Amino acid sequence: MLLITCPVTRTDELVADRRVVAVANHPTHIAMTVACPCGRTHVYRTGRRWEERRTPQLPAPSPAREARTLVPA
Ligand SMILES: [Zn+2]
Repeated sequence: MLLITCPVTRTDELVADRRVVAVANHPTHIAMTVACPCGRTHVYRTGRRWEERRTPQLPAPSPAREARTLVPA
């Protein structure tokens, strides 16, 4: 199971692992395509180096939230 934030409904959705339809491993991050309960698919990117690259430009999310959610594409 994993927790995603749907960019369409803006709600947190708990989805089963089998709803992950694709995972692509990139040098800086992992791109995960998830079939969302809203009926669409969303791509989420996660990874330490991806987060480090984002940090200088964007305000960091609170550690508690980052630990339990993935960043919408
Ligand atoms: Zn959705």
